[in-house]
Amino acid sequence: MKSYTLIAPAKINLHLEIIGIRPDNYHELVMIMQTVDLADRVEVKSLSTDEIILHCGHPNVPLDETNLAYRAAQLMQQEFPDALIESGGVDITLHKHIPVAAGLAGGSGNAAAVLVGIDLLWELGLTQIDLQKLGARLGSDVPFCISGGTAIATGRGEAISPLPSLEGIYVVLGKYQSLEVSTPWAYTTYRHEFEHQYAQDLDSLADRSHRIHSGDLVRAIVATDTVKIGKLLYNDLEKVVLPAYPLVSQLRAEFQRHANLGTMMSGSGPTVFSLASSRAQAEVLYHQVRAAIPDPDLELFVAQFCDRGVRVI
Ligand code: ATP
Repeated sequence: MKSYTLIAPAKINLHLEIIGIRPDNYHELVMIMQTVDLADRVEVKSLSTDEIILHCGHPNVPLDETNLAYRAAQLMQQEFPDALIESGGVDITLHKHIPVAAGLAGGSGNAAAVLVGIDLLWELGLTQIDLQKLGARLGSDVPFCISGGTAIATGRGEAISPLPSLEGIYVVLGKYQSLEVSTPWAYTTYRHEFEHQYAQDLDSLADRSHRIHSGDLVRAIVATDTVKIGKLLYNDLEKVVLPAYPLVSQLRAEFQRHANLGTMMSGSGPTVFSLASSRAQAEVLYHQVRAAIPDPDLELFVAQFCDRGVRVI
């Protein structure tokens, strides 16, 4: 039986701006996404039956159709029924290292890996663009997780335009293991509180999403100016998550107290991160935050920016 092992890395948001509500009722977003080398391992194997079987040892990860990796396999079955008959179903094992419901796109990355893995198992020869179009039907972050690196994401988050690599910048990430923030809750709460500030027409939606391309953060990325990138980190969702989750707010303050470069919450949280310009600086920060918050529930990670998304090993 054929099998592949894939690395599915996490992402952080260097910029997350909510522009307005689209006619399809999703939020129009302008984000700058960055892949980091904190990653799940995903194994896909051919089965002689037409089933989808999912294994995962993490207590908070569902094993049914609510798992995004499972839905990715279902989508491939629907789209390529002949390949399913010829090559059989798929057995998927998720080895989770990315914290769950953390604002790090763990589920989206797993789904991206399953799309790439099944394309290989079934020898479909899909292009990255084909895979990203399929991924967009599963979730807004899935297309970015396929290509990875550094990129502007607009629309619902599924329209990706790549930026120059920032590979090598370090980041320290912190998340309380028992604390999860629901992404739908964060966006609904934001809409409730800030809808009056939303762009009202499609032209201004488009205009504001184009503005990022010539903005200061993109210029700092092009120049690999880590100090400036750190100063320009931005996330609208902090406005609703930090007041509702004092632990996240305290953790962010602790990171900020010690970090030389910028600190921000990723996505809908509750993961907080700070940039560091070297491994040594990242490790100092890691130990400072650990000493200040000895709570064993707090997980800390040192990771590095990387320039690609899902890959086969
Ligand atoms: P995003 O940053 O894209 O909003 P996230 O990092 O906040 O994602 P996930 O780790 O993807 O969140 O998990 C969100 C929810 O989805 C969890 O409650 C979890 O139970 C469920 N889930 C479904 N599939 C997966 C998966 N493959 N891995 C982790 N969680 C999953």
